[in-house]
Amino acid sequence: MKVLLVDDDRFALKLHTRLLVNFGFGNVVAHEHATDAVALLECDTQAFDLILCDLQMPGMDGVEFIRQLVRLSYAGALVLVSGEDARILQTAEKLSKAHRLNVLGALKKPVSPEQLQQVLKYHQRPAAKWPSAGKTYSREALSQAISGDELVNYYQPKVNLVSGIVTGVETLVRWRHPVDGLVCPDQFIGLAEETGLIDDLTRVVLSGALRQARIWQDAGLQLCVAVNVSMDNLISLDFPDFVAQKVLEAGVPPTSLILEVTESQLMSDPLMALDILTRLRLKRISLSIDDFGTGHSSLAQLRDIPFDELKVDKSFVHGVGRDPSLRTLFDASLGMGRQLGMKTVAEGVEDREDWDFLRSAGCDTAQGYFIAKPMMAAALPCWIEEWEERYDNF
Ligand code: C2E
Ligand code: CA
Ligand code: CA
Repeated sequence: MKVLLVDDDRFALKLHTRLLVNFGFGNVVAHEHATDAVALLECDTQAFDLILCDLQMPGMDGVEFIRQLVRLSYAGALVLVSGEDARILQTAEKLSKAHRLNVLGALKKPVSPEQLQQVLKYHQRPAAKWPSAGKTYSREALSQAISGDELVNYYQPKVNLVSGIVTGVETLVRWRHPVDGLVCPDQFIGLAEETGLIDDLTRVVLSGALRQARIWQDAGLQLCVAVNVSMDNLISLDFPDFVAQKVLEAGVPPTSLILEVTESQLMSDPLMALDILTRLRLKRISLSIDDFGTGHSSLAQLRDIPFDELKVDKSFVHGVGRDPSLRTLFDASLGMGRQLGMKTVAEGVEDREDWDFLRSAGCDTAQGYFIAKPMMAAALPCWIEEWEERYDNF
């Protein structure tokens, strides 16, 4: 594995080289000037598997260097290092991720061996979880997938932070593509919305989730099943009737269904959304405001729409315990949810530190990889047993 270091500080270059060599990276090339590093990459973009880059450098700075990496379609891993304050470092990290660079982490100088080891650990992780990543699909293919039973619901557990009890699951759809394998929703939900297929898709996902809720209910598992709905579902006035009909057919109480609506989607036609959402509530179906913090809903809308649950977006959750600015935003969201009488859920709970923080902050429910990844319905009962055992030893 070849590593490239770019830093105008010679001492840092030496120190980081030594750390990397100690970790077993034998092949480390160090440069004081980003322009020299770019020249090397111009000759061969694939010459390096990992780059550690400083942000504050005279001449070409770290942000300009990142831009060059994008131009050269650098496909290796990137670690940002800087003595700048944490927020600048985070912004640069976000920028790199937005450019779809493979960013392993952002480290504040002076970098400790433990910190470096921690971010590099992820580099050993198997990549390409989604073999189909980056592929695009046609309307015809998706339409066929919807009618041809190629969509499959995965379920991710939601757990009460105080009791540890599994209270429900969120339904997350995947496409089992005959050639590409499992395709993630980010690759086809947008397409479904743009091409008018989202209504059919939601209906398939919702019906499947309700049938599954019934199977769990018959097996003695009382789980609230959440289903994501798109704004485009909230423009057909018969949507509440359709949902109520499906709930009836499944034979589960309406209170066991939660519809998750993304905050930003509420804006496009507030009155229509208000009409439909109010009727859903009259039918005793619960509503959750999803991705909270990422949209622009006004406080008045929050007040007017009778949401039962507020889901703080994952971008405000992971790492909240050690990041004061995240914490401020998280606390504000939580406080707002509570004062409006909503249950609060944090998604994107990735480690024990996140869990402990949320628990002490008084958040009601947690969801995230720390608890479990989305799974097939059949795996859930076994997982619950394992979780209960794990939770007992917390
Ligand atoms: P979402 O509603 O915000 O769902 C949470 C996403 O975060 C899921 O991605 C989930 O797998 C992922 N996630 C869960 N725990 C963690 C964690 O600890 N860390 C991190 N970084 N991520 C975590 P997924 O399954 O790829 O779904 C992506 C999005 O696609 C969903 O975001 C939702 O907006 C949309 N989606 C999924 N299924 C449906 C559907 O049936 N209908 C509609 N309209 N949208 C759907
Ligand atoms: Ca959701
Ligand atoms: Ca989210």
